[in-house]
Amino acid sequence: MLIKILISLGITALISGLLALMFMNHWILVFALSFIVQLLAFYIGNTIYENILIEKAEQIRTQQLIEASKQIATVECPCGERNKQDVQVRFDQEVTYDCSQCGKKIKLDVDIKPILTTQPIYVQK
Ligand SMILES: [Zn+2]
Repeated sequence: MLIKILISLGITALISGLLALMFMNHWILVFALSFIVQLLAFYIGNTIYENILIEKAEQIRTQQLIEASKQIATVECPCGERNKQDVQVRFDQEVTYDCSQCGKKIKLDVDIKPILTTQPIYVQK
C-alpha cells in the first residue's frame, strides 16, 4: 500500500518535472502547480469512479431484493384447457397474466384463508 502510494507520487513528480523542464524560468512554480493539478484530477477521478461503483452495488442489491421477494404459484387457467402455468404472485398489487394456451388475460385473486388450529394436530409453532 505504502509502496503503491510512493510509486504513484514518484510518477506524478516525474510528469511534473518533465512539464517543468519546458518552463526553465519558473521551474519550481510550474512543478508545484502541475503536481497539485494532477493530485486534484486524480482525487476527482477517484471520487467519481467510487460513486459509480457504489451506485452499481446498490443496483445489484436492489435487484437481489426484488428477486428474493418473488413468489411463484402454479395456477390453472379457468378457460377449460387445463393449462397450468407458473405465475408471479404479489400481495401489494393486482396480478394479471396471459394464459399461454388461450392467450386470454387472467386476473389472479389471492385469497388468504385463516384456519383455526387444534392442539394435538397442530404442534408446530
Ligand atoms: Zn387459458
